Amino acid sequence: MTLRLASLNGRAQLVVADQDWLVDIEHASNGRFSSDPMVCLSCWGELRDFSRTISDAMFSSRADVATLDCPVPRPRQMFAVGLNYKEHAREMGSPLPATPLTFAKFESALNTPTGDIPIVGETCDYEAETVIIIAVGGRDIAESSAWEHVAGLCAGQDISDRTLQYSGVPPQFSLGKSRKGFAPIGPWVCDMSENKSRDALRMTCTVNGEVRQQTSTDDMIFDAAQIVSYLSNICELFSGDIIFTGTPAGVGHGRKPPVYLKRGDEIVTTLEGVGSLRNRCV
Ligand code: ZN
Repeated sequence: MTLRLASLNGRAQLVVADQDWLVDIEHASNGRFSSDPMVCLSCWGELRDFSRTISDAMFSSRADVATLDCPVPRPRQMFAVGLNYKEHAREMGSPLPATPLTFAKFESALNTPTGDIPIVGETCDYEAETVIIIAVGGRDIAESSAWEHVAGLCAGQDISDRTLQYSGVPPQFSLGKSRKGFAPIGPWVCDMSENKSRDALRMTCTVNGEVRQQTSTDDMIFDAAQIVSYLSNICELFSGDIIFTGTPAGVGHGRKPPVYLKRGDEIVTTLEGVGSLRNRCV
């Protein structure tokens, strides 16, 4: 069984039985593991071993994505990489980056897998992204061992206020991507240690049922291992850190004419083998 870590009412849960049931980790382990999802991320290998011992008798509650919290509620750092898909760089009128173009999304923007997204102004936009969750921190991590530092992946949305993002000269991205609710991730952290196609997952974003973004993640300019290695050569990474890895072509800002999010829109973001986010604009 693939280890999936979710959070329900602030308590760490395993998602089991084809994503249908939750097991409360602290209860099922008789206190061996913490109820805090951040602590669970810091002992990911042991948790993976434990998840293989789960029996039907431990199933505690039906998994309803609509009730889940953010699976990584208190990261120490949250990075995001921009322009990491060639076609997206083109639609934004930007040259291809030579190194991962990195900015911050601030932690107060985190949202739940089905949380509402408050729309501010006329130019809020969606960006479907694959999100890396760090299990084992460190500095100077080699590309060849980068996945050993990764707990797994989440689906994510890097919601962006384009007016704020491009308001300065030169533009800075971090604030325009950090408004309230602008960082939904989840629905859980999905272990990727045995997933052979972890660098080539299908990712889609629909708005009101219309497909706006569709890609395979092997189209990234810098893959997950390169990003983890690059960042760790500058900043120390910590267990529980979150890294957004960039969005493919098809954002509203790149359409002619541009189409932005409006109240009532429903955004569904799906990462193959992981799960879906469903967020309503309000
Ligand atoms: Zn982005």
